Amino acid sequence: MEKVKKTEAEWKAELSPEQYEIVREKGTEAPFTSELNDVKAPGTFKCVACGQPLFTSEAKFESGTGWPSFDRPMDESAVDTEEDNSFLMRRTEVLCSRCDAHLGHVFDDGPADTTGKRFCINGCALEFDES
Ligand SMILES: [Zn+2]
Repeated sequence: MEKVKKTEAEWKAELSPEQYEIVREKGTEAPFTSELNDVKAPGTFKCVACGQPLFTSEAKFESGTGWPSFDRPMDESAVDTEEDNSFLMRRTEVLCSRCDAHLGHVFDDGPADTTGKRFCINGCALEFDES
């Protein structure tokens, strides 16, 4: 896979201010603000910055947190994870493996009957393609 590398000025020109703050500056959108929270139709959630397919509707579940939540990525290689100890919390950051966009975090309190993982993803970092 070829990595997408762009300068911060290029990203800024391509993304909306809100998208830029989340994917490049590791921001977090306010909960219950993304229209993708309620998406239940079959389809693919892609990286808003580079278009790489990241999650499918099949993996989406209602977590009640106010952010789109998935129990697994579409493919193990679609996302990278990294330890994040900011804000005095021990969390695991989830990034797009192709362009290093910050997507959200992954926690171990997901659905016990599937993977047990909860990928808590900013809707602003995603683009939905209905299939
Ligand atoms: Zn990406």
